[in-house]
Amino acid sequence: MNVLKIDHIGIAVKNLAESSKFYEMLGIASAGVEEVAEQKVRVSFFPVGDSEIELLESTSPDGPIAKYIEKNGEGIQHVALRVDDLEAALAELKSRGVRLIDEKPRYGAGGAKIAFVHPKSTGGILLELSER
Ligand code: ZN
Repeated sequence: MNVLKIDHIGIAVKNLAESSKFYEMLGIASAGVEEVAEQKVRVSFFPVGDSEIELLESTSPDGPIAKYIEKNGEGIQHVALRVDDLEAALAELKSRGVRLIDEKPRYGAGGAKIAFVHPKSTGGILLELSER
């Protein structure tokens, strides 16, 4: 597999508008807000150099971000690496015995193809692989 860069860092927040103010104060403008119904989130991406910060707000009390915040509080929820071929990357990881949350790509914000790798296989972080 070919990892190209850190695509973004995903941060779980209770209130997207409130949390956005901090990054706007740093002079970083949001690239826009998008709702991803399948994951029950609204996200806002803040471009920083070649990578981005992704703020995630739950749209439902039973969504994964709401559950994350309930357990851990607000904070870094995942790190995303960009790969050039997500299907190939997933096949390679699976063949090496890596525990995958998604064995097939799914839709991510901004039209990306994404898949998550289980923290049990990554040293404790939720890892997102992203292909754009
Ligand atoms: Zn993400």
